[in-house]
Amino acid sequence: MGANTVVPSLGSSAVADENTVVCYPYGVGHANEGISLGLTIGSHRVLLDCGLEDLTSLESAPAPDAVFFSHAHFEHGHSLSQVKQRWPHVPIYATAATAALLEDRVLAQSLRVLPWRMPVKLADNLTLELWPAGHLPGAACALFTYIHNNRNYRIFYTGDCFLSSTRLVDGLPLAALRGLHPDVLIIEGSLGATRYPNRRQQENQLIKQLRSHLDQSRCVVFPVPMLGLGQELLMLWRSHYHFTGQPLTIWVDPAIARSCDAYLELLAQQPDAFPRNVQNFARHQSIFWDDRINPNIKRLSAEASTLPLHAPAVFLVHPATPVDLYCQRHQGSWSVFLPEQADLRAWQTQINTHGPIYDWFDSFKNATTSGTVQLETYQLYCHCDGDGTTQLIHNLRPRHVVLVHGKLDDLSALANLESLQSRYQLHIPLPGNPLSLFLDTRFTSPPPPRELTFEGTVSDSREQVSMQLPPTITSDARWQSFAETGIIEARWQGDNLVLRGVDPSELTEITNRLAPDRIACDNCQFYQQRSCQQPQSPLFGRLVAPDGHCPEFMAR
Ligand SMILES: [Zn+2]
Ligand SMILES: [Zn+2]
Repeated sequence: MGANTVVPSLGSSAVADENTVVCYPYGVGHANEGISLGLTIGSHRVLLDCGLEDLTSLESAPAPDAVFFSHAHFEHGHSLSQVKQRWPHVPIYATAATAALLEDRVLAQSLRVLPWRMPVKLADNLTLELWPAGHLPGAACALFTYIHNNRNYRIFYTGDCFLSSTRLVDGLPLAALRGLHPDVLIIEGSLGATRYPNRRQQENQLIKQLRSHLDQSRCVVFPVPMLGLGQELLMLWRSHYHFTGQPLTIWVDPAIARSCDAYLELLAQQPDAFPRNVQNFARHQSIFWDDRINPNIKRLSAEASTLPLHAPAVFLVHPATPVDLYCQRHQGSWSVFLPEQADLRAWQTQINTHGPIYDWFDSFKNATTSGTVQLETYQLYCHCDGDGTTQLIHNLRPRHVVLVHGKLDDLSALANLESLQSRYQLHIPLPGNPLSLFLDTRFTSPPPPRELTFEGTVSDSREQVSMQLPPTITSDARWQSFAETGIIEARWQGDNLVLRGVDPSELTEITNRLAPDRIACDNCQFYQQRSCQQPQSPLFGRLVAPDGHCPEFMAR
C-alpha cells in the first residue's frame, strides 16, 4: 500500500458543531445492503435515502428533520415505508416522477413532492434544491445549502447519476452545475475507475449480439429488474434502425409490464420527465404497447400460458416471475442475455421480499425442454464510469468527496486516482462509523485539471476529408455526447474550423440532408401533415412517426 493510498475512513470521533458536517453511514451499498446516509448539518438532521432491509442500524438514531429520497430504485427506498411508520411527521422529499414510479402507492401518496431546480426552505438557514441526475426518470441529486455566519455551505448528494442520455432519460446537466464548489460532495462510484464504451456503442454491440441469436431462430430471455433496464431495452428495440419495422414479438412478463404501465402513466401525466424525442414519439404511438407496430410488444399473460410460443422471440422477464410462465411453451433453443454485474438474487428480493430466493438461471435451465441454454452477457450501464465520475467531480470542484455505493475495491480504485487525490479530500465511509467533514471557512477549491488540447492530422481526397485525432480524446466524458449520434457538424469561425456533435433530436433532419433517398415516412410522397395518405399502406390515415416506413414507400 503506497503512502498516498486512501484507506476507508474510520471516523469514530465524529464531532458535530457549526463548522462540521457529520455523515452517518447506515448503509453505503458496498454489497446488497442498500443506501442510507444520515447527515448533521449544523443543528439539522437529514436522512439521504433508505434502502436498508430494515431499520436496525438506525435504531439509536434520533428522528431526522427531513428525508431525501433520490429515485425509485429499490436499494434507495426499500425501507422508506418503515421510516414513515416510525416517524410519521417527518417529511420525505422526492420528485413527482419518483412518486409516480413507486409500486407502493401508500408511500407514494405520503411523499412531499418538490419541483426541479428551485431551492425550498427546510429551515431558516437550510434549503434543498433538486437537480436531474440522469439514470432513471425522476432521479434527483440533492443540493443542501446551509447558511451560517454569513457564509453559504453546500452539500451535494448525487444519488445514482449518469452524465449520458439514455433512450428514456436525459443525462445529468453537467454544464449547469459546473463550478458549483460544494463543500461536501457525496457521490456514487458503482462502476469504480473502470472505463466503458459509450452508451451508444454498448447499445449497438447488444443489438448485434441479439440479432445473431435471433437469426438462429432462438428464443432469447432478458431477466431485468423492476424499473429502468427493461424499459430502456424496449425503447431501444422500438427505435433502433436494426429493429424498427422488423417482424418480431417481444413478450413482457406481468411484473415488468406493471412497471411499463407506470412509465406510460408518468408519460401521460408528466411528459417533461422524458426526453423531447420520446415525447414526440409518444404523440404518434404508444411507446410500449401498440399491436400495429413492429417489433410487436405483447404482455405475457398467465391465461394463455399453455399456448405455444414461436421462435425467434424475445422475453423480458423479472427473475421472481415463475419460469413456467414461458419456459415450456417453446420446444426449441433458448438463450439468456444477462447484463454484466447483474445481481438476480437482489432483483428477486424486490418482489419477493419474504419469499424464497433461488438460482434463477438453474431453475430456468431445468425447466426448458432441452435442458441447455446459451448464456450471453452484455453492457448497458446507466451509471457514470470512472471517466464520467472524475469528470463530474472536476466540474463540481468540491472540497470533500465522499464515495459511496459500489464495491469497496471499486471505490478504493477511484479514491486512489492521482487526479483526485491531489485536489480533493477523499473519504470512503464504512457502515456504522460516522465521518466528520470539517468546513474550513477559508476554503478555496483547487483548480480543475488543465484543459487539454489534441493534435492530429488532416487529409483530403476528392470524396471526403478525414481528420485523425489521438484516441485519448475519447477519455473525456464529453466525448460521449459529442459522438452519441455519430454525426458531426463543422463550420468556420474566423480561420478556425469548429466541430460540434449532433444531438439525437436533430438527427432526422440532418439524416435527410445527408441521405435524401432514405426510406422513411418523412421522405415519402404520401406523408402529409404527419399522417399517411397512401390507401395501400397499413399506416393509411394514421399519424405516423417521421422515421417510420412501410412497403408502399415512394420517394418524394
Ligand atoms: Zn438507481
Ligand atoms: Zn443505486
